Amino acid sequence: MQQELSTSTGESGYPRVTIAHGDGIGPEIMAATLKILDAAGAKLAYDTIEIGEAVYLRGQTSGIDQSSWDILRRNKIFLKAPITTPQGGGYKSLNVTVRKTLGLYANVRPCASYDPVVATAHPGMDIVIVRENEEDLYAGIEHRQTQDAYQCLKLITRMGCEKIVRYAFEYARSHGRRKVTCLSKDNIMKLTDGLFHKVYDEIGAEYPEIEKEHLIIDIGIARVAKRPTDFDVIVTLNLYGDILSDVVAEIAGSVGLAPSANIGEKCAMFEAIHGSAPLIAGKGIANPSGLLLAAVMMLSHLGQGECAAKIHNAWLKTMEDGVHTGDIYVPGTSKEKVGTDGFADAVIARLGQSPSILPKAKVAAEVPMNLDFSHLKDRPKEEKTLVGVDIFVNFDGDPNELGDRVTALGNEDVSLVMITNRGVKVYPGGVPETGTSDHFRCRFMKSDSLANLPHGHIVDLLKKFDAAGLDFIKTENLCLFNGLPGFSLGQGQ
Ligand code: NAD
Repeated sequence: MQQELSTSTGESGYPRVTIAHGDGIGPEIMAATLKILDAAGAKLAYDTIEIGEAVYLRGQTSGIDQSSWDILRRNKIFLKAPITTPQGGGYKSLNVTVRKTLGLYANVRPCASYDPVVATAHPGMDIVIVRENEEDLYAGIEHRQTQDAYQCLKLITRMGCEKIVRYAFEYARSHGRRKVTCLSKDNIMKLTDGLFHKVYDEIGAEYPEIEKEHLIIDIGIARVAKRPTDFDVIVTLNLYGDILSDVVAEIAGSVGLAPSANIGEKCAMFEAIHGSAPLIAGKGIANPSGLLLAAVMMLSHLGQGECAAKIHNAWLKTMEDGVHTGDIYVPGTSKEKVGTDGFADAVIARLGQSPSILPKAKVAAEVPMNLDFSHLKDRPKEEKTLVGVDIFVNFDGDPNELGDRVTALGNEDVSLVMITNRGVKVYPGGVPETGTSDHFRCRFMKSDSLANLPHGHIVDLLKKFDAAGLDFIKTENLCLFNGLPGFSLGQGQ
């Protein structure tokens, strides 16, 4: 199924694609990719924007100018070479910013092994990783809360889970895939990863023809690394998917081979999964395949599936003929070692040809961008009941001393039930073996006589903490949703 897209078009009537040449090896692999697209007759018009290191270093900490955002939003389709994020604080990752600003919720990373033409320990691997792209620890909300403790917020929403899980199943259905595996760590993170797993079960039930399997992420990644042929489509959260896709790309043969598509409801971005590889930049030896295959995904996405298949087949034939860049060159298996440009010329020379050993690429089906998520805004409101508060404090000292001081701040309406340090209960009844930092959580719960804890009680409690000279850092409300707790117990509680 080819889709119709409302993209911007140039004078030629061709869709306008935003191009960024990027940093490091970016300009070399982009030049090779554009040369192949032109030779294959891709019907595209380009607008080039500058992003990355040069923009960061002239003081734009986001790595992108406002004028570039305007072009990105107008064109809606973005082909991006890798960029370098300067080391050190103060620079936000542009990749993450672009994905989130343009609402690119699905990161789709197909990873196949190309045995016997590219050396791999895992012949027959053909995995597609569908990674959540906007949430999780990549919300980028971090705080230093005490001298000792730093926090990164893991933010998961039902909306984010539903979008990515729906996309994964729609992808599997439209691409004739047999199975969708969900990877999460819901044995530990019961609320956040637990929600992801729950949504997977709910939505998966609507796809009876597709095999379903959930694995805990640690054993899941281990199994993927050992027996990748057991897997087909994998759907997972942002951080796990980031790690997993590099593992899978590397065991396929080289990180230089894998493309990715970042899909949103209105925009899409296509890129290689690797970075700017500064150590080999300027040498003309980088493998352009990741970016080229990303451009192939982009062509399919734009409804130019025939052209996409033509390039893909020429690329497969080049690989099959043993014309390899240094990262995958193996004497004996490979026939000719080429640089970036030589590889592009070899692909161009094979346009119109198809592989005879590797499976021939077909005109790929695409998942429509316009999946309907409107119901997510109209869900019935759950009944929310405030039943307590966690007050986090910066405290240097003995948990029992803190416990006695904080217990005295409660009253008949709201009282201290426990104190934890790094999640484990240290008061009442803590043991001296537990290591403690200067970061404590004091959990107060309402008495049974109150139906709902008025917010004013929390404000009063904080005033008392302040008056008692206790340095509170933050609070988290403890709520029931339709009567079910929206908070985890302390370890040992
Ligand atoms: P990297 O992916 O750039 O390099 C990892 C290894 O793979 C290196 O040995 C490199 O030489 C090799 N490699 C990568 N691409 C290759 C290719 N096309 N051909 C041949 N060999 C290739 O990862 P890194 O070194 O951790 O990161 C370098 C920079 O890239 C950092 O500034 C990082 O922030 C950035 N980065 C950008 C993106 C992106 O723009 N999407 C993604 C990841 C990293």
